[in-house]
Amino acid sequence: GAERTKNVLILMSDTGGGHRASAEAIRDAFKIEFGDKYRIIVKDVWKEYTGWPLNDMERSYKFMVKHVQLWKVAFHSTSPKWIHSCYLAAIAAYYAKEVEAGLMEYKPEIIISVHPLMQHIPLWVLKWQELQKRVLFVTVITDLNTCHPTWFHPGVNRCYCPSQEVAERALFDGLDESQVRVFGLPVRPSFARAVLVKDDLRKELEMDQDLRAVLLMGGGEGMGPVKETAKALEEFLYDKENRKPIGQMVVICGRNKKLASALEAIEWKIPVKVRGFETQMEKWMGACDCIITKAGPGTIAESLIRSLPIILNDYIPGQEKGNVPYVVENGAGVFTRSPKETARIVGEWFSTKTDELEQTSENARKLAQPEAVFDIVKDIDELSEQRGPLANVSYTLTSSFASLV
Ligand code: UDP
Repeated sequence: GAERTKNVLILMSDTGGGHRASAEAIRDAFKIEFGDKYRIIVKDVWKEYTGWPLNDMERSYKFMVKHVQLWKVAFHSTSPKWIHSCYLAAIAAYYAKEVEAGLMEYKPEIIISVHPLMQHIPLWVLKWQELQKRVLFVTVITDLNTCHPTWFHPGVNRCYCPSQEVAERALFDGLDESQVRVFGLPVRPSFARAVLVKDDLRKELEMDQDLRAVLLMGGGEGMGPVKETAKALEEFLYDKENRKPIGQMVVICGRNKKLASALEAIEWKIPVKVRGFETQMEKWMGACDCIITKAGPGTIAESLIRSLPIILNDYIPGQEKGNVPYVVENGAGVFTRSPKETARIVGEWFSTKTDELEQTSENARKLAQPEAVFDIVKDIDELSEQRGPLANVSYTLTSSFASLV
């Protein structure tokens, strides 16, 4: 008979821009590679409940008491380390309801998690539903190096690791080699496959045609010492003797409107473009010669694809920390928290150390994995094909689960 459309549910959480960017990259790549063969649903499990449980302490408390017991029973056999924390257990139980509702509504044949806390619960719900053998479950990790152990779950069909370092951690944490694949971090196809010419981009973006350009940003939210760095760059990219600029600067503030208006109010000695949230990052990156950013995995992976030498000036403690050695040890950039030091490096790259700039750019290019997202969706498709036509996966609210929750 005619091929049936398969449902793919992507579980993400819109904290920062990274998870969403990865989820959307996967969705777009499915569309490009397979057209209508798959129907993709991206579900933000956190969004509707921002602030929980702080916004409703009393109900949360009752909820916690009620569910921690359930959770303890449910997890007794597997007992992941992190479940011993009551707080996390309560959040997890809360998620379990959300996830089950999502499964009921979307009836996915394939579930893709791009979130560190989204393996145990969906897999557990699948188990309740006795669907573990019929529903494909894969994890796409979006941290480049040090990542939280909750990313790894031995019950997944695949665990896609962005780097060899992460793959080693996965194996160390008990995953089997047959489960682990290393293709790279998924980057939006519109970005990865863009063919761009720097001169054309500069014309289009109304930048100076000749001066080298530095791109300054701080993730989707415009975080980190952006303003201080912009001021320092102005000093180091201005040749006082000859009274002319030796470089230009683009500052992308993301959703940080306060930052954008503060920077727009300044009279700069060098050519500066201040922008808010940009939807065509590939163009701005393509028009510049190096980038200064916090250590967000999305921005790093994208910069590598555009061969941009990277100065990391900040990281979110925990999940972003490991992105720093990934960049630095591979020679694709440097790390410094000092705005002055940052500006000094850019000044040198644009004047006396252009060789170093070029070498770093070459190293970045070698690390880039623009095809990663396509390799991932093709592998998922292959896994799905191997299972043959999925005889109607049926979701029903199991009475045992319903009565417990
Ligand atoms: N981004 C964007 N427009 C902006 C600022 C950021 O599209 O104006 C994108 C950026 O290209 C990257 C993501 O947002 O894909 C940021 O992800 P990252 O992992 O670097 O940091 P996060 O914001 O998640 O902390």
